[in-house]
Amino acid sequence: MAAPKRFFVENMQEDMMLPEQEARHARNVLRLSEGDEVTLFDGSGREYSAVVTRADRQGISVHVVREDISDREPKTWVFLLIGALKGDKTELVVQKATELGVMRIGVFSSRYCSAYMNENKLERLRRVAREAAKQCLRASVPRVEYYETLEDALRAGSECVTRLFACEFITETESDIIDTGATVCAVVGSEGGFSEEEYALAQRLGYCGVSLGKRILRAETAAVALLAVIMHEAGELG
Ligand code: SAH
Repeated sequence: MAAPKRFFVENMQEDMMLPEQEARHARNVLRLSEGDEVTLFDGSGREYSAVVTRADRQGISVHVVREDISDREPKTWVFLLIGALKGDKTELVVQKATELGVMRIGVFSSRYCSAYMNENKLERLRRVAREAAKQCLRASVPRVEYYETLEDALRAGSECVTRLFACEFITETESDIIDTGATVCAVVGSEGGFSEEEYALAQRLGYCGVSLGKRILRAETAAVALLAVIMHEAGELG
């Protein structure tokens, strides 16, 4: 039997209606009906088994029968800081980072960054994170925020034990990524890259420069590669 379908709900209750958008999909595409089992998640790391108690034009009602803590969340807490990217590239990074198990994402503007952010774009990124979490069976949805300056972003990550700054113009990694702490902040620049001053600022704030090899990667490749290395070193892959 196929796994129960997953739905994101914001305010979890024992008896509730699925949110409008989720209900439409559930009824028209998935053809859910009374008695079907579903899984609900609210982004908190918990997930809930529920049964459909009514499915009609008014909507879909569900009754929660069990609550579990998801076992799919990584033990290492990872915070990705990524420069705002052009087109839909930031969305791509949010999607991939969510799949790789990141817990928080900060999008920042920096000196050579030419993309801009607004409330709509941020809302869209949050939706991408929810959809990606749903698709990869996560029960946590990474929080997505925007920082107007690189400094604000770096300060937001300063409580992480390990702080890594992917810098395209250094030739050697300053620290051992292998020794990741319980919390890791990973910073990747936008298409325009970083300036020397920005790298110096990151160092002052306790970030270690990381090289991802001799080739210059696109920002989205760099983000995915760095996160995969961190998760691997943290023992989260395989
Ligand atoms: N415009 C820049 C490249 C920016 S690449 C140039 O022409 O030099 C975008 C971001 O990806 C960088 O800011 C960095 O965070 C990351 N990145 C790309 N290649 C990298 C590498 N070889 N080592 C470390 N970081 C890299």
